[in-house]
Amino acid sequence: MSHDSNCIFCKIVAGEIPSYKVYEDENVLAFLDISQVTKGHTLIIPKEHSTDIFELPAETAAKLYSVVPKIASGIKQTFNPIGLNILNNNGEAAGQSVFHYHMHFIPRYGQGDGFG
Ligand code: 5GP
Ligand code: ZN
Repeated sequence: MSHDSNCIFCKIVAGEIPSYKVYEDENVLAFLDISQVTKGHTLIIPKEHSTDIFELPAETAAKLYSVVPKIASGIKQTFNPIGLNILNNNGEAAGQSVFHYHMHFIPRYGQGDGFG
């Protein structure tokens, strides 16, 4: 499995940096964002390192997305939001700051929830 020793999220996958895990299987890890935009803000990553969507193998994307509904349902049950944004930034110009492909799950609670 490809691993970048300078990558924060690869370190989280390897357990070298602690995280609050929401979901884990052989290929995918979901954990709470260190800086919660709203309550339950979660990041979903493939364990295998890819910088962004332009590098992400289709097979990795398929495995990742196959568990997206399950993770979304878990977030809904746990945090009881009234909506959920799923976002992905690719490239610095698009707001990407960690260069290991990831999706943001941002639970929404109505006007004034801090996002958007
Ligand atoms: P980006 O801006 O690349 O789309 O999102 C990167 C996200 O990673 C940010 O929301 C940031 O708060 C989060 N993040 C950065 N470093 C860490 C970390 O060490 N642990 C966790 N849980 N989240 C992190
Ligand atoms: Zn990585």
